Amino acid sequence: MSESKELLVSPDTEGPVVRLVHLILEDAYRKRATEIFIEPYEKILRVRYRLDGVLTEVMHPPKKLQAAMAARLKVIGKLDIAERRLPQDGLFSLSIESTTVDFQISMIPTRWGETILIRLLHRSRPWLPGLLELGLSEKQLADLLEAHQRRQGLVVACGPTFAGKTTTLYSLLQHQYEEDPQRSFATIEVAIHAYLEGVEQSVIHPDIGLNASSMLRAHLNRRPDVLLVHELRDFEVSTLAMQAAMQGMQVLTTLHTHDAASTYTRLLNMGLESYMVADSLTCVIAQRVGRRICASCKEPADESDDSVLSVGIVPDELNTFTPMKGRGCVDCLGSGYKGRVGFFEVLPVTSQIRELILRRASTKDIRQAAREEGVASMRRSALDAMKRGETTLQEVVLHTQRNRDASLPCS
Ligand SMILES: [Zn+2]
Repeated sequence: MSESKELLVSPDTEGPVVRLVHLILEDAYRKRATEIFIEPYEKILRVRYRLDGVLTEVMHPPKKLQAAMAARLKVIGKLDIAERRLPQDGLFSLSIESTTVDFQISMIPTRWGETILIRLLHRSRPWLPGLLELGLSEKQLADLLEAHQRRQGLVVACGPTFAGKTTTLYSLLQHQYEEDPQRSFATIEVAIHAYLEGVEQSVIHPDIGLNASSMLRAHLNRRPDVLLVHELRDFEVSTLAMQAAMQGMQVLTTLHTHDAASTYTRLLNMGLESYMVADSLTCVIAQRVGRRICASCKEPADESDDSVLSVGIVPDELNTFTPMKGRGCVDCLGSGYKGRVGFFEVLPVTSQIRELILRRASTKDIRQAAREEGVASMRRSALDAMKRGETTLQEVVLHTQRNRDASLPCS
């Protein structure tokens, strides 16, 4: 790693390509990007960042620099500089603003040259939002913390890819570490997205037979107090995670389900015994993530009553708030958004929910029971974020409308 740092310490004395590559890496870090894409097309080369979860185009370097940029990154990433036909992966670190920043690089050959993805591995602080900054309501936070205070059991974050599940679990893990650093914390991940203080993070390598189940078995013997398992991928991983949870460990994990209630049915459909699901699960967090309005250019948005009502605001609420938007400024690169806000449904496993799981009740019945117990839907959470002026009507529509009739009933 130190070798690669050396290579870029004095960009001013190096050629334009070295300077350009350095500039992109530094710029992406300063803008808090999570990924950099350097994409070759027939006539152009495009650089995009993933900012607040959204791909944003930042520049078109001259196409003629493409090969030199790829070569430069191969040198930094200690990849094979002569290899252009096979995918390659590497890790490197740079010193930026007196911090060591780690990058994961992967290159894949395409018709127009190698396409490059560079993932920035941010340190947990200050990059990772705190538990209070995620967008959870007071009740949701209280329900979640209550599940955590039990110090054992399974907490599942569910939602599609890029719904912010990992961020939520990272925040939880970091919160728990800060509260009680005496406990032991470990993770089993597919890729590390941020470094967490006080947490032993491991990555699986299925190519050498190191998969999530073998890692889980190893951890069952070692027994960390809190274990994050990337995903309940299959029956085996789910069984092991539930065994760990029932043996006194706290297990945090994710599942690709639509909402909280469908998580239980998914687990039962995986072939797990209902008593295992009922006994191990303590809380399910369903979520989506929307963009946060930029604080520097926030202003009232001119939304009609009809459009506000159409997303689920009830007439009584109409005059209690003003929909906001971002005008676009230098801080938000003209997008009007900076940062993100989660839309959550937090469903604790109460005795009534537990009974329903044991009876293998339908998703609909579980959802109904949850609403009766005062569990707010994700859409309600998104609407509340809009009412607080944290996000726009457009983001609420984008992230909650698709299944609004069936699965995201307002409460
Ligand atoms: Zn702005």
